[in-house]
Amino acid sequence: MLKHPEDVEAKLRDQANTSPKDLDSILASVDAIAREIVAVDADAVDRDARWPERAIRALQAAKLGGLVVPEIYGGCGQGLLALVQICEILGKECASTAICFGMHCVGASVIARNANKYQQERYLAPINAGRHITTLSFSEAGTGAHFYYPQCKLLPVGPDEFVLNGAKTLATNGGYADSYVVSAATVDPQFPAGGFSCVVVPADSGGFEVGPAWDGLGLRGNSSRTLTLKAVRVPRQNLLGNEGDQIWYLFNVICPTFLSAMSGTYLGVTSAVLDAACAYLKERRHSHSATSLSQVSIIQHRLGQLWCMVERTRRLIYFAASSFDAGQVTALTAVMAAKAEVADCVNTVVGEVMTLMGGITYRSNSKLHRFLRDARAAHLMAPTTDMLRLWIGRTILGQPLLAD
Ligand SMILES: Cc1cc2nc3c(=O)[nH]c(=O)nc-3n(C[C@H](O)[C@H](O)[C@H](O)COP(=O)(O)OP(=O)(O)OC[C@H]3O[C@@H](n4cnc5c(N)ncnc54)[C@H](O)[C@@H]3O)c2cc1C
Repeated sequence: MLKHPEDVEAKLRDQANTSPKDLDSILASVDAIAREIVAVDADAVDRDARWPERAIRALQAAKLGGLVVPEIYGGCGQGLLALVQICEILGKECASTAICFGMHCVGASVIARNANKYQQERYLAPINAGRHITTLSFSEAGTGAHFYYPQCKLLPVGPDEFVLNGAKTLATNGGYADSYVVSAATVDPQFPAGGFSCVVVPADSGGFEVGPAWDGLGLRGNSSRTLTLKAVRVPRQNLLGNEGDQIWYLFNVICPTFLSAMSGTYLGVTSAVLDAACAYLKERRHSHSATSLSQVSIIQHRLGQLWCMVERTRRLIYFAASSFDAGQVTALTAVMAAKAEVADCVNTVVGEVMTLMGGITYRSNSKLHRFLRDARAAHLMAPTTDMLRLWIGRTILGQPLLAD
């Protein structure tokens, strides 16, 4: 491993300049970043609630800012499987880094889905060049898990401009993103009620303010912050898709990308927990006997059960992402199930491994401490586990998903 961060970054930049866009070489370069930067910074990111700047810049330098941006717009043209596997590699070292990169990709994919010429030049080109970080800001304090009912208001003022008013909560990359993909209710009376719109809001817009620093229980580096939007003027050319059409985006772009980034991240955390367990159980020996914990059959059995749970969750996540990439009609249900399952899986595995490893895991400097705190967010981040299971039930019953 190289000793100086500057050397690491220079080496990664050189690699990126020659990197083809195939998935294997992308994963190899993410692997190098994960080992040489993400793993090194993970404890400080967690301890100081520090946005993972070095890792994000390295991912940008490796030309991965445009990971999910189609090749026709100059991006890498990768799909959900790539996103899952990248977030898995990053999440194994640092869940905050994986979520920050994942939310950037979610924002980029929404911008790229129907990008007009202006959006291609103003946002996608710098995203692909590694000069622009974006994010998705849907959640609001008032509507919580029902993030598809924004109370922010988008009012047209003349033919070329909107004015945006409202407040958002828990926007990952808050304060560090160059732009925010913001949802808002369309209040132009000529559009039907119920639809909502999305606009890109540049971070330097007048009337746009980012709230206090994030001091979370877990995912402490993800800088989930509140946003205040007071009469923010947004050019019409920043409208994504058409006014009020974002329900389509929700299930075709936003949820699949977001859920896959989350699934990959938590799969990575789960793998890290299992690795930590195996390493410790082999090494831990009692002074009254010559055997290690890894030789106790009940522990072997319980570890085997956990491995099965992780592996079947991994297979579901990969299957869901590949099915979506292949355009299969039932893929969305699998993508939803994957995120609900990994949320259960990571929380079960971290809890069980703490039991297997014993009191050492309860120390404040234990790695498991971070994993446990990070894992808890898996159920809370929308679409939450309960909402996903509700939607899956409604899907198989042939009922509309957003019935409440
Ligand atoms: C670390 C972190 C990062 C985040 N990053 C982002 C981000 O980048 N962008 C963004 O837009 N948001 C983000 N969020 C917000 C998140 O995605 C959720 O929208 C938000 O936490 C949910 O809000 P709430 O807790 O107020 O939900 P509430 O609506 O108060 O729900 C509380 C609980 O009740 C359940 N519940 C509510 N209604 C129902 C129902 N009808 N049926 C079944 N169960 C129900 C929910 O599932 C949830 O478990 C982030 C959240 C966290 C914790």
